[in-house]
Formats: sequence, structure tokens, C-alpha cells
Amino acid sequence: MRGSLLAIGFTCLLSGMLATTEVRADSHFRVTLIGTGSPIPRPDRFGPSTLIEAGDQKFLIDAGRGAPVHLWKAKVPAGKIDVLFLTHYHSDHTSGIPDLWLTGWLPPPFGQRKTAFHVIGPSGAKVLMENLEKAYALDVKIRIEDEKLPTEGIAVKVEEFDKEGVVYEKRGVKVTAFEVNHGDAIKPAFGYRIDYKGHSAVISGDTRYNQNVIKYGTGADLLIHEVAMAAPALTQIPAMQRIIAHHTTPKEAGMVFAKAKPKLAVYTHIVLLGNDKIAEPSLDDLIAETRQTYDGPLEIGEDLTSFEIGDTVTVHHFRP
Ligand SMILES: [Zn+2]
Ligand SMILES: [Zn+2]
Repeated sequence: MRGSLLAIGFTCLLSGMLATTEVRADSHFRVTLIGTGSPIPRPDRFGPSTLIEAGDQKFLIDAGRGAPVHLWKAKVPAGKIDVLFLTHYHSDHTSGIPDLWLTGWLPPPFGQRKTAFHVIGPSGAKVLMENLEKAYALDVKIRIEDEKLPTEGIAVKVEEFDKEGVVYEKRGVKVTAFEVNHGDAIKPAFGYRIDYKGHSAVISGDTRYNQNVIKYGTGADLLIHEVAMAAPALTQIPAMQRIIAHHTTPKEAGMVFAKAKPKLAVYTHIVLLGNDKIAEPSLDDLIAETRQTYDGPLEIGEDLTSFEIGDTVTVHHFRP
């Protein structure tokens, strides 16, 4: 009798411990900047890409140049991404897709995806993926014949949307797409808000100063915003003006942050414009401009910096 009581007590203790561990794993909400760069092929800033880990699910927002390399450094093999969300179709946001899709299919340690590569994006995602399937058809055929890789892991599942709203909802994670303004000719262009367990991370995508980022970013734990700045001596050059007109200046981003009041504001997609005679603005210049309109918590994103989201937001800088 005593033995069985003990056994029951021990079982309860064990199940209690398991429950605690499960809750902890379940409430895990982390964002990692995989690439914080732009089309400029800088080795210190890879193409735009952001990893979201929520509970047992992993998502990538955009797959810029080198995305699988930095995912690897973040200990996430390419094949472990559940869904790739796309913001728009500028190549700096998509050039890492074939690498992510194809490498993620390979056997361990690459992740060995066994279900379809899942892409959710605004109109245009289907054409992009259909043509990638055509472009890499020979590699796919060879690997199925030669390496006997599972065909279901290289299949592609695409969901498109043409207006803002909830685009994904599963196991407590809700992803909402919202329209942004990246310039009159650059449509569609969207940002994303990810909600999980009462917390949220918002990514502006590429955009000019936009009310919708404020609307969806208000009260977010993390508001990740793009930014672009030219050296003052270059701001009258038409080519520079064209670039800046497609993006958000640090003063404008500061206005977005000041209105949305996130727990932490973060810069990514950092575009700093100079030329061979005039140096690009420094990160200190970027901060000084932002501080003209915003005095809250601010982090200048670096590749592989991660943010643990809970009651507070904890920043981890990557140290190899
Ligand atoms: Zn871009
Ligand atoms: Zn763009």
C-alpha cells in the first residue's frame, strides 16, 4: 500500500516535472536576425532574412543571400523551416530560396525535409516557385534516382494572398500580413505580425514611412524596421533620392517607433549610402538621426543577433 502510494506520488512528481518542461518549451518565442543587409554583397550583412521560433515551429521571413549559411550558424538546418513567408519580390529577399529549398531536402545534417516546402506570400509566389522547380528539375531528378531522396520533401506548397489579414494560424501561432508602401511600382509589398502566447513580433518588410506599420506594430514586444540613410552630401543626387524614396529614413523610423511604442525597436535591412569619394553614414549617424524623433529602447540589428521574447525582451549577440 505504502509502495503504491509512493509510486503514485512519484508519478505525480514526474508528470509535474514534465508538464513544467513542456510549458517552458511551448512558450519559447525567439526572433533571430539571419541577414540584416541589402542588395550590397557585404560579408558582414547577409541578405534580408529573419527567423521566428515559436513553440515547436520555425518560420523564415524572406530568404536573402546566404540565408542557409546563417541558419546553420544559428543551429537551424535549412530543412527544419516549417514555413517561408515572403514580403515582396525584390531579389535581395528571394535569392536564398533555391538554396533553402534544395539544401533542406538533403539527408542529415541538412535537415532532410520530409514534407513539402511551404511558402506563403503575396501574389507572385506561385510563379516564382513554379519557375524554380523548372530551373532545378534536373538536380531533383538526379537526386531522386541517385540518392533515393524522398519526393515528398522536394515538393512545393504555395499559398498566395492578395490582401491583408491572417495568413497562417496553427498551434497558437498567428501570422498576419499587412500592406506596406515600398513605392508605386513595387507592388505587392507586405509586412508581417507574428502573435504567440500574448506576445508579438512585427517586421515592417521594405517600406516607406507607413501608417500601417504603426497600426500593426503598436504595443508589439519587438518591432523590426527597415531603414535607409544617405551621406548628407549625396542626398541631392537623383539616383540616391530614388533609393531613399523607396525606404524609411532613420528620422521617419523614429517617428514610427515613437507612435507604436514597442518594448524594443530593432533595425534590419540597413541601407547606408555613400560613394567612392564620400563615406557612407556610420551607425552612430544612424542612431543620432533616429534619436531626433525617438528616445525609447533601440537595437541596431547585426546578423545573428537574437531576441528572446517573454515578459521582457532579452538580446543575445552572436559570438562564434
Ligand atoms: Zn530589400
Ligand atoms: Zn525591396
